[in-house]
Amino acid sequence: MSEQAFIRDLREIVGGSNVLASSVDLQLYQYDGYLEEHRPEAVVFVQSTEEVAKVVQCCNRHGRPFVPRGGGTNLTGGTIPFGGGAVIEMIRMNRLLEIDIPNLRARVQPGMFNLELGNALAPLGYQFIPDPASQKAATLGGNVAENAGGPHCFKYGVTSNHVLGLTVVLPDGRVEKLGGKAADIPGFDLTGLFVGSEGTLGICTEVLVKVVRQTESVKTLLAIYDSIEEGSETVSAIVAAGMVPATLEMMDQLVIHAVEASLHCGLPMDCATLLLIEVDGLRDDLESQAAAISDLCRAHGAREVRVAKDDAERALLWAGRRGAFGAVARLAPSFLVCDGTVPRTALPQVLKKVSQVAAKYDLRIPNVFHAGDGNLHPLILFDWRDADMKARVLKAGMEILSLCAELGGTISGEHGVGLEKLDAMRLVMSEADIQAQRRVKTTFDPANLANPGKIFPAKEVACER
Ligand SMILES: Cc1cc2nc3c(=O)[nH]c(=O)nc-3n(C[C@H](O)[C@H](O)[C@H](O)COP(=O)(O)OP(=O)(O)OC[C@H]3O[C@@H](n4cnc5c(N)ncnc54)[C@H](O)[C@@H]3O)c2cc1C
Repeated sequence: MSEQAFIRDLREIVGGSNVLASSVDLQLYQYDGYLEEHRPEAVVFVQSTEEVAKVVQCCNRHGRPFVPRGGGTNLTGGTIPFGGGAVIEMIRMNRLLEIDIPNLRARVQPGMFNLELGNALAPLGYQFIPDPASQKAATLGGNVAENAGGPHCFKYGVTSNHVLGLTVVLPDGRVEKLGGKAADIPGFDLTGLFVGSEGTLGICTEVLVKVVRQTESVKTLLAIYDSIEEGSETVSAIVAAGMVPATLEMMDQLVIHAVEASLHCGLPMDCATLLLIEVDGLRDDLESQAAAISDLCRAHGAREVRVAKDDAERALLWAGRRGAFGAVARLAPSFLVCDGTVPRTALPQVLKKVSQVAAKYDLRIPNVFHAGDGNLHPLILFDWRDADMKARVLKAGMEILSLCAELGGTISGEHGVGLEKLDAMRLVMSEADIQAQRRVKTTFDPANLANPGKIFPAKEVACER
């Protein structure tokens, strides 16, 4: 069927003004936080589960792929509509449907921004834990699809640990409810399967999440080091000592300089690295937790440990950490955010090797990351107008992921596979593993219409894109 018939049918479902099809409009939806681009045929703004189901059925009738999109902040190309078809924009499905404090649950639409859910819960004394640094612009649907992490996930777990149920529109347009308010639903954990599936198993249209009480008190520490090794050794030492701070984040000197230049957080400019550590819990217990961690930091070479004196100073330090990716944009026209994970004990080794990769490919690679999770984010700086440089960046990124795999880690901590890491999947999975996952995808989506060309590597993908 023709492109015109497809767009006409979409307009009949959601109304004319909710379908974009002009080349200027489509240009805005041909990219996300990764480096590739491809234009869709249409962008469809949906407002309800029923509309999503009808739009997906329409895509089936026309044999068109569809790609759900939330904030478009993902860094692996997950929302790039490689096979054309429709981008289904979830951002207007952004209502908070229910807060059920006695059962510690909240039900939300997927287009709600992560931070908005936090802001709605805070006055009640509750919180939703996963807190990606992108939380102002990333939606709950995108968090679910990428199994997002964030600074607080070290102590409390990533998105999959906080999602209890989902309403989903399957790739053929049927609506299903997975999981639910009650604990221990029998049968396969289909909610768990859906979390992290990157839009390849269907579209989530409602999310039931766990909420938890805010802790009575927090203390935020800044440990300052003259060598990156000492900083990363401290991370292993804290965890080995059985201490679990709420957050354990690390920034290196290039990042610190960029953050200071744009956000003026009072970070020391003459150090090699710093750890942003937060302890939380009962007020009476915090002094001793903070003291024990400060002692460990000093024992592993910290030249100074500062404690934020009030909420304003704490907020400033977090603004620096959350704004770090944005601040690094000062250093080069573009950067690739690498996302790999290693066992925490391998952090000193992997950071050293990342600097060797930078030298080998003649690139600058600052680091800011969730050190407690062993989740690295080397930011590979480049100029997108320089094709040779871009090729070196892609090689360097792949080499860093190989290093993570060699050291017993994996190729993603939280940003997913998307398009970026199709080939990297083979670093951590056998052909049999990949086939097993592919069979799951085919069971849900035999026509391969839901976000095709993502997650599964090379040969098979090439012929199905
Ligand atoms: C500055 C910056 C900092 C970041 N920091 C973090 C961080 O600390 N932790 C972290 O985990 N990530 C981080 N990210 C990456 C990104 O923000 C997360 O992956 C986020 O979860 C994506 O949400 P989104 O709404 O933007 O999703 P999108 O980018 O719109 O989509 C991401 C994927 O989810 C799918 N999808 C979207 N909505 C749905 C839906 N309703 N149903 C099914 N599939 C859907 C899409 O098809 C796509 O595959 C960061 C990104 C930036 C730019």
